[in-house]
Amino acid sequence: MDNLAALQNYDIFLCDLTPRQLVQVGREKLSAGYKRKLEKFRYGAAAFKVDYALNAPIPWKAQECLRAATVHLGGSFEEIAASEKAVRNGEPAERPFVLLAQPSLFDPSRAPARSHTAWAYCHVPNGSTFDMLERLENQIERFAPGFRDCVLARRVFSPADLENMDANLVGGDIGGGVMDIHQFIFRPTARHYATSARDVYICSASTPPGGGVHGMCGYHAAKMALSRLS
Ligand SMILES: Cc1cc2nc3c(=O)[nH]c(=O)nc-3n(C[C@H](O)[C@H](O)[C@H](O)COP(=O)(O)OP(=O)(O)OC[C@H]3O[C@@H](n4cnc5c(N)ncnc54)[C@H](O)[C@@H]3O)c2cc1C
Repeated sequence: MDNLAALQNYDIFLCDLTPRQLVQVGREKLSAGYKRKLEKFRYGAAAFKVDYALNAPIPWKAQECLRAATVHLGGSFEEIAASEKAVRNGEPAERPFVLLAQPSLFDPSRAPARSHTAWAYCHVPNGSTFDMLERLENQIERFAPGFRDCVLARRVFSPADLENMDANLVGGDIGGGVMDIHQFIFRPTARHYATSARDVYICSASTPPGGGVHGMCGYHAAKMALSRLS
C-alpha cells in the first residue's frame, strides 16, 4: 500500500500500521499537526529470534519444561531484571531473558516424524546489529545441557530481518512501540484509533491496549469507525 488517497471508493480505511507507516501511506489525507505527533511516537526493544529444527526434544533439566508449550528462561528475578535493564540502557544482555516455544511436543504436524521444532527470542536494543546467537543459546544450554547437540538447523532473525519480514516491526520492535505510562495513555496520540482524517483509523498494536495477539486494538477501532459511520 503506497498511498491511501490513491484508493478510491472506500468509505473508511482501518490501517493495521504503526505510526511510521501511517505517516507514509496517509501523507495526503492526514493533517500536518497530526503527522508531527505520529513522528514523535517512540519504538521499543527489538527481538532477536531463532527458529530451530531439532533431532530430539530439548533435554531440559527440569522435566516440567517438557509439559510446557512456552518456556521462559530467566534464572532469578534479579537476572531477568538485569537483562531487561541492559536492553533499556542500549546494551545486549549478558544473560538474556529468553522466551522459547516448543510446538512439536504437542502438535506432531509441526515437524517431520522423529524430529522437533522450536523457536526462541530475547530482547535487544531497537535496531541492534549485535549477534546474540551465542548468548541466547548459552541460556538454553544452561537449563538444557546438550541442547546444541540436538540442533539440525537454525534460522536467525536479527531485528532488521524481522522488519524486512513485516514493516510493522520497526527496528525489530514486536510490540508496536514503547509501552510506558505516556504511550499507554496517548497511544499513538490522544485520539487513539481516530486520526485527523474522518475516514482513516489506526488499529495496530500502536493503539490501546497495545502489543499482543488478542485482537482488541482492531475490535475497538472497528467499533469506533462503525459508530461514526452510522
Ligand atoms: C516472534 C514473535 C513472537 C511474539 N510473541 C508474542 C506473544 O507470545 N504474545 C503476544 O501477545 N504477542 C506476541 N508477539 C507480538 C504480536 O504478534 C504483535 O503485537 C501483533 O502481531 C501486532 O499486531 P498488529 O496488527 O499491530 O501488526 P502485525 O501483526 O505486525 O500486522 C501488520 C501487517 O501490516 C503489514 N504492513 C506493514 N506496513 C505496511 C505497508 N506500508 N503497506 C501494507 N502493509 C503493511 C505487515 O506486512 C503485516 O501484515 C510476538 C511477535 C513476534 C514477531
